[in-house]
Amino acid sequence: MVKICCIGAGYVGGPTMAMIALKCPDIQVVVVDIAVPRINAWNSDNLPIFEPGLDEVVKACRGKNLFFSADVERHVADADILFVSVNTPTKTQGLGAGKAADLTYWESAARMIADVSKTDKIVVEKSTVPVKTAEAIEKILNVNHNGIKFQILSNPEFLAEGTAIEDLKCPDRVLIGGRETPEGKKAIQALKDVYARWVPEDRIITMNLWSAELSKLAANAILAQRISSINAMSALCEATGADVTQVAHAVGKDSRVGSRFLNASVGYGGSCFQKDILNLVYICECNGLTEVANYWKQVVHINDYQKARFVKRVVSSMFNTVSGKKIAILGFAFKKDTGDTREAAAIDVCHGLLGDNAKLSIYDPQVAESQILKDLSMNKFDWDHPLHLQQYMDPSEISKSVSVVSDAYEATKGAHGVCILTEWDEFKELDYKRIYDGMHKPAFIFDGRNVIDVDALRKIGFITYSIGKPLDP
Ligand code: NAD
Repeated sequence: MVKICCIGAGYVGGPTMAMIALKCPDIQVVVVDIAVPRINAWNSDNLPIFEPGLDEVVKACRGKNLFFSADVERHVADADILFVSVNTPTKTQGLGAGKAADLTYWESAARMIADVSKTDKIVVEKSTVPVKTAEAIEKILNVNHNGIKFQILSNPEFLAEGTAIEDLKCPDRVLIGGRETPEGKKAIQALKDVYARWVPEDRIITMNLWSAELSKLAANAILAQRISSINAMSALCEATGADVTQVAHAVGKDSRVGSRFLNASVGYGGSCFQKDILNLVYICECNGLTEVANYWKQVVHINDYQKARFVKRVVSSMFNTVSGKKIAILGFAFKKDTGDTREAAAIDVCHGLLGDNAKLSIYDPQVAESQILKDLSMNKFDWDHPLHLQQYMDPSEISKSVSVVSDAYEATKGAHGVCILTEWDEFKELDYKRIYDGMHKPAFIFDGRNVIDVDALRKIGFITYSIGKPLDP
């Protein structure tokens, strides 16, 4: 029986391995992690991440050919194919701080693999890593090999949180990069054989290692660039009376452009876009490509600008101050159908409003109160240095100004304004007349995701703002 082990039981490691186990009943899949509570959660009825369809997939194979374990070294030792899906966040200090990828988790995983391996292995980069990382990993593995042979492959993951299971079932493409040696080609074929159980052959793309590593950064940069492009247009729409939804529709109808990823919003979030673009910027700078680096920097800059613009609009609409006013925040996750708040636009928007002494009442269907308070105490928005600023905000100050509640009606009761920051479907179905009746007048709604029917809200009596739309008459 082929043995697969994955180091890292996170948003990527957990679902991707569950899908491999589901589709390959004759392969044993073990997902390992140093975070014991996370492993315990994977082994319980309460999985550590919320993802539509994930429970069913895990339940179908857990205990049969899918296992979660904190006994990392034992399972790494005799795996045939070893995926490494550890986190690769942005470095917060030292050389490249604020841009470069922090590869310390990767490095320690590679050293551990070299130390404990008892059989030859294919080591698969599942994490998103800077181009040429495989070269560094090869060095670590091959210097400490104890006679074991390793082949490195790059197999970046393209799933999106919220649709991970669908994305894994029917991927647009699976990318496998490897060395162009006979051993490299054999390793590529072995991984291809795994995916070929359910992915059509024409969707499995093989290439050299560096192209595969760079393709992941390029894909995320270009997706984020589309969002920043339409968000930049939204500012111009508001200044001129054009409607960004109509503009996006017209642009997207061009088959060369396509309609996806053209929804204007308060800004993208998530653990990947910002970190991967900043990483790309850093790699460009290291290669002396300053102009190229500056080009990609603008994508992140526009995203920060969009969040700042939203906060300014809220404050200026509400008679230039939100001090002491209750603002309901509907949605805190970075997108719908996930409980993930990493780099969520809501964090910066809340900080902006707290900076003007607002009282926030926050509701999100999937994010726990403890997570929200932690996020708000770890990051502080700085208008002058919006890029990646990590400052400490006193938790006691936060809890004086922030309450986290368990439904949208409670959040909006007695509020002066409402901000919609995640596009949860339930926000489209709310009884807005009831919400209006419970609010201070004039009652404001700021739709950061363009999900609600503004005309209907105006008829109720709300003063409304939507991204990139004509302002209230
Ligand atoms: P995550 O933080 O949810 O999970 C990473 C896990 O690795 C953590 O549970 C951590 O405890 C574990 N880990 C770290 N070092 C370890 C070690 N030495 N041994 C064992 N376990 C260790 O991260 P994630 O969201 O799953 O992302 C993982 C990688 O995949 C990142 O490089 C990310 O950029 C990339 N990626 C993420 C997504 C996404 O949507 N989240 C999509 C595509 C690619």
